[in-house]
Amino acid sequence: MSGTRKGWALAASIGTVLAIVVAAFLILKPGGKTVDPAVTARRTVEILAEHGIEVSQVEGWEERQGSSAGIRLEPEGVVVHHTGSASTDPALVTEGRNDLPGPLANWFVDKSGKVFLIASGYSNNAGYGGKDAFAQIVGGQVDHELAAAATDGDWSANSHAWSVEADGRGKWPKKTRAALVKLVAAIHQAEGWKHARVIGHKELTRRKPADPADDMGKFRKDVLKTLKKWG
Ligand SMILES: [Zn+2]
Repeated sequence: MSGTRKGWALAASIGTVLAIVVAAFLILKPGGKTVDPAVTARRTVEILAEHGIEVSQVEGWEERQGSSAGIRLEPEGVVVHHTGSASTDPALVTEGRNDLPGPLANWFVDKSGKVFLIASGYSNNAGYGGKDAFAQIVGGQVDHELAAAATDGDWSANSHAWSVEADGRGKWPKKTRAALVKLVAAIHQAEGWKHARVIGHKELTRRKPADPADDMGKFRKDVLKTLKKWG
């Protein structure tokens, strides 16, 4: 082998080692925690089953994600939405609309409180806005509803948070809200989060003033209560 060839072989070996190190870093957080969202979603389904809620798993959820290449869901919190409709077809949340491709959320709760797992990759749900509000929620307990910032900026929660669409025009129906609180609590338990890292879409942007209509301070308290009850 010539010196140049040896050089190339060495470079290739170093390249392989670097690729393995980078891949390991992407898969494992320091401390060895798996960050594959599909694993967390599967655990969330198990936790809900332990509490009597069966999740309807929409075929293909493990691979489903938004169409922009290279965007990876790395959840630090949860964004909750109301659909603005009394009754939504889960296929719409899965496939999207003419003006907005799906998935429109990772999870969906329908008018009767049925929970659907739609996608484990990033979804087109929140759009721009709320970097500071999101950081406040992720950083510590916020016991009151936050006012959205005056401007949106160019940050989007889509790849930073689990997203949940829940049926409701105005406030969520009782059954829908009850299931939603449990779903969000189960996501927290699966992620190992100790304080309420859940934010309403209306707290992220002024574009969505009633999304959801429910008070988010009270919602966060109910999620914490549920987590405490579950132990
Ligand atoms: Zn929304």
